[in-house]
Amino acid sequence: MSKGRQAAPQLMDLAGMDVLLVRKNVKNINLRVRRDGSVAVSAPRFVSLTEIERFLESKRAWIHRAQERIAHEPGDALEAATPFQQKAWKEVVSAFVPALVEKWEPILGVKAGKLAYRNMKSRWGSCQPSTGRICINTRLALYPPECLEYVVVHELCHLQERGHGPGFYALMDAALPGWREARDRLKAPPMTHL
Ligand SMILES: [Zn+2]
Repeated sequence: MSKGRQAAPQLMDLAGMDVLLVRKNVKNINLRVRRDGSVAVSAPRFVSLTEIERFLESKRAWIHRAQERIAHEPGDALEAATPFQQKAWKEVVSAFVPALVEKWEPILGVKAGKLAYRNMKSRWGSCQPSTGRICINTRLALYPPECLEYVVVHELCHLQERGHGPGFYALMDAALPGWREARDRLKAPPMTHL
């Protein structure tokens, strides 16, 4: 047994989640959702796994919200992009999005408004249900095409369902059953050759 103050983190399945658990000399159980969407917990040594699971259960909604937020965030790893690169991303994305919107509008029974393209730090896309305006992050040029399609479908679904409630996910599941894979790909680093 280690005599150090902190044991090595252990990846465990707790409350049905993959949790990186570390035992520490802390007073309370601490919970963090990391940049890749995984859950990290530090807990005092005397707290049982059952108690930790109960704690995670009580935080399930919060964890889910934090993971959703991260799924919408491109992060800031690409801040150093040159104007030339940014222009190239915009050209790639704006070349594909109108056809995707045209393909999905009749399937989803919605009509998009103005399409906009921006290099955004905090969101993959956004949608204004009142005007139908959809803005797509140009950084999607750095990800596989199914990621772009996932974001387009996600934003179009918001024209039917504003929030991320069960109705929204039912729509996404029916329209694009593989959407979770695309979402997970967006949590990983981009391709960097563009
Ligand atoms: Zn959304």
